[in-house]
Amino acid sequence: MEKLEKALELRKAKYLKRTGSPGNYKYIYREKTGRRRGIEKEIKKAYNWIFKETGNKFEAMVVLDIDGKVVASKLGQENSINIDDIFSSLKDKIFIHNHPSDSSFSDDDILVALTSGMKEMRAVSNKYEYIYRPKKSSRPDIDIVEHFLTHQQEALYNRWRPEVRSGKMTANEANMIHWHELATNFVKKFGGFYERRER
Ligand SMILES: [Zn+2]
Repeated sequence: MEKLEKALELRKAKYLKRTGSPGNYKYIYREKTGRRRGIEKEIKKAYNWIFKETGNKFEAMVVLDIDGKVVASKLGQENSINIDDIFSSLKDKIFIHNHPSDSSFSDDDILVALTSGMKEMRAVSNKYEYIYRPKKSSRPDIDIVEHFLTHQQEALYNRWRPEVRSGKMTANEANMIHWHELATNFVKKFGGFYERRER
C-alpha cells in the first residue's frame, strides 16, 4: 500500500498494474498494450523504408491503418509529397513522412491532418520524430484554423528574423524553433496531442 501511495504521489497511477496475491502484492508500471506496441514497431519499419528509399534527401510517405498494416506508400519531392490521390482515404489512418529539413510539422501538415480526419501524423528526420494527433471530438472550423496559423507564422517570423539578421542564430536554427513553436501553440489553442522526440 505504501508503494501504491508513493506511485499516486508521483501521479503515475494510471500506469500502475498490480500483480501477486494478497499480502504479497507487487506494483509495476503497466506497459503499453500489445496493439500499441505492435503499431510502434510498424511505424519504425516505415521510418526505415523511408530512409532507405530517400536517404532523407527528399520526402516519402507511408500510410498505416489502425492495426499497423501498410495501406499506401509513395515517394515525393524535396519538400513535398502530392497526396491528392489518397487524401480521401486517410480517415483514421496513421500518416508517416520524413522531413529532410529536421524541422517540425508545416502549417500544411497540420491542415491536412485536421481536414482528412487522420488518427495521427508523424514526421521523422535524422534527429527527431514529431507526433501530432488531432483532437478526436469537435474538429475546429478550418477558416479559424487557417487564420490562426497565418497569424502565428507572421508572429514567429517577426520574432526570430532579427536573431537571424544579427547573426545570433542561423536560418536553420530559427526554422527549427519556428515550426516547433507553431505546432506547440496550435495544440495549446485547438487541443490534440503534439510531441517532439529525439531519436
Ligand atoms: Zn510535412
